[in-house]
Amino acid sequence: MLGTAILQLRLLFTFFFSFIAFSIYGSLPTVIVSLAPYQFFVNQIAEDTVDVFLIVPPGASSHTYEPTPRQVMQASQALLWFSIGESFEARAMQALKSYHSNLKVVDLQQNLDLISQPHCHQGCCAGAFDLHFWLSARQAQIQASTIANALISSFPQHKEKYLSNLKKLQGQLQDLDREIQTILAPLKQRSLLVGHPAYGYFCRDYHLQQYSVEIEGKDPSAKQLTNLLLFARGLGTKTIFVQPQYSNKAAWLVAKDIGAKLVTLDPYSQNYMQTMLTIAQAFAAQ
Ligand SMILES: [Zn+2]
Repeated sequence: MLGTAILQLRLLFTFFFSFIAFSIYGSLPTVIVSLAPYQFFVNQIAEDTVDVFLIVPPGASSHTYEPTPRQVMQASQALLWFSIGESFEARAMQALKSYHSNLKVVDLQQNLDLISQPHCHQGCCAGAFDLHFWLSARQAQIQASTIANALISSFPQHKEKYLSNLKKLQGQLQDLDREIQTILAPLKQRSLLVGHPAYGYFCRDYHLQQYSVEIEGKDPSAKQLTNLLLFARGLGTKTIFVQPQYSNKAAWLVAKDIGAKLVTLDPYSQNYMQTMLTIAQAFAAQ
């Protein structure tokens, strides 16, 4: 009787420990990214050494996104979170505390030349800075280094691979920067009208100026709309650049009124290199 019980217990233990061993060795460590473009950066550097878990799905706005309880639970298994400073990240991390996770948060704002937005309230930028800093091939190089350093410190066994991939990625980002400069160099009209002000860093890099239909994360008031129409006519705006993440109702109204067309660009796409070129080409063709 006792022998059977011990045997059963032993079987149970064997099963239990092989299960744990399988969990550890049978799957890759998980790292979290908030936005799809960072999936690209992490994949380029880490290759097949980690699983990347994306929080904000395509088509959703990162400024108003709320992670699901299931996502928070899944996130508790992760070792790293590459954080950009959106407000949902702080709330999710607060919720994660109850899961006793070993999550390390890596701040991607570090070492960046951030654009401050002192007048921005809730919604568009979740604080004092413009958070669309992946849309600069120059600032992206700094973020790639931050990502590589964090990966090396968590998974030092892959250091050589990470460093060589970082070098390759930096080279690609420098080429991208040069290519965008070439595309935008002959541009006469350097003012853009956009639905959502996502291009602050892009515009700073290439001496463009963005004007936004959306004001501080909200649709313009009647008075703001009137001013905007006057302004857009003055600029001779032929194109308003909008994103699939927003309803773009106000942009559509403005476009209709001034006889401009709407062009959809998705700066949140995972296909980073191509997206940056598409943005440059669309701005050049406005
Ligand atoms: Zn945005």
